[in-house]
Amino acid sequence: MVLDDLGSSLRGTLDDLRGKSRLEEDDIQEVVKQIQRSLLEADVEVDLVMELSDSIKGRALDEEPPGGTSARDHVLKIVYEELVELVGDSTELPLESQTILLAGLQGSGKTTTAAKMAWWFAKKGLRPAIIQTDTFRPGAYDQAKQMAGNAEVDFYGDPDSDDPVQIARDGLEETEQAEVHIVDTAGRHALEEELIAEIEEIDSVVDPDTRLLVLDAAIGQGAKEQAQRFEEAIGVEGVAITKLDGTAKGGGALTAVNETDSSIAFLGTGETVQDIERFEPNSFISRLLGMGDLKQLSERVERAMEETGAEDDDWDPESMLEGSFTLKDMQKQMETMNKMGPLDQVMDMIPGMGGGMMDQLPDDAMDVTQERMREFNVIMDSMTDHELEEPRSISASQVERIARGSGTNTERVNELLEQHKMMDRTLNQFQGMGDGDMQRMMKKMQD
Ligand code: GDP
Repeated sequence: MVLDDLGSSLRGTLDDLRGKSRLEEDDIQEVVKQIQRSLLEADVEVDLVMELSDSIKGRALDEEPPGGTSARDHVLKIVYEELVELVGDSTELPLESQTILLAGLQGSGKTTTAAKMAWWFAKKGLRPAIIQTDTFRPGAYDQAKQMAGNAEVDFYGDPDSDDPVQIARDGLEETEQAEVHIVDTAGRHALEEELIAEIEEIDSVVDPDTRLLVLDAAIGQGAKEQAQRFEEAIGVEGVAITKLDGTAKGGGALTAVNETDSSIAFLGTGETVQDIERFEPNSFISRLLGMGDLKQLSERVERAMEETGAEDDDWDPESMLEGSFTLKDMQKQMETMNKMGPLDQVMDMIPGMGGGMMDQLPDDAMDVTQERMREFNVIMDSMTDHELEEPRSISASQVERIARGSGTNTERVNELLEQHKMMDRTLNQFQGMGDGDMQRMMKKMQD
């Protein structure tokens, strides 16, 4: 995607700042120009680009870099924070029963996104159903049915009906057993009155908790008008951006988000049901800026260390990549990680751990919620030193004792042990890379 170019062009400019401790106005001007160019090329709307570059310029000139911070890191931090602000928070989607309505033009990727989202919710332990109301596009029914099969989720549609509103009504009834209802609607080639009237009617019958506008990342400036029309008709709480795996620019969708005062919910990155990511602003921008570097990671660690009052050598990300990873390490890191944000974001910052590599890992490997971390901590407090050092040696009777001691249950203790194994495996995978891989990674990091 063209937004990707922002990372490499910006890094080039930022590298020119290396070694400087003070920033001149000219330096900042250059960085800002680079950002403007990249964002405009990526189809982000002019007003939005100007707003962003003004705040970056203002902050870079006004704010004193904290002691010991280089000019380059200072600017990078500001750019990062402002871009995170620009893309906004992820659309709120609680993991509970709900109804989601998908709207968008034909070909934007609604049917595909419906199946992907269903797959995503199913992975989170909820029972989803797809309701296909697109009676306009030939083949929509078969495609939706097949994709629902691939995602292994409930499906309702009626190939013989030409009444989408009735299908929506029947669909909700027929899939009562499901917890998450995802209602796919018909698109048109353009914003016709008929489409708008139809979606308004479906919206009133379905009464969704969340309305998502599905936008092709390639849409460009047209996104603004589309977003406005759907916003007027039904209201838009969130946007799903599709086809980010292609050469699409991505910026139009950001404009749409801004226009509807909504947020990004999901990113589509391919044609199969698994090619979906929940939008996470921090990790999205980190990746965009190519910030998967240890420098950033250790800065976060340092900050978190200060807050937790932990010693500097308590956690050294590089040492984590050598030697064995015990439960003691995990316990020490949990407190720090708690302060740093979700594990997957932290992992994204380790070179080679981000992007494609993360995709190969099971989703759950990174799914340690803060709540769960607190529970894990209590469990680890009930373990002996030996158990913490050699978690793989823990027997079933020890698991029972630990569960009793921590006031939890054996299931939870085993979960912790599983989690540790997964993290250990992740790190091993990293260590297992050949020297060539390592060099390529380092090179990528410097690019
Ligand atoms: P709809 O008319 O809005 O329901 O759009 P579809 O779901 O049928 O998608 C239109 C085309 O885009 C299909 O060929 C999909 O396979 C493709 N598509 C959808 N999402 C993605 C994506 O994230 N990446 C890629 N590469 N193709 C996608």
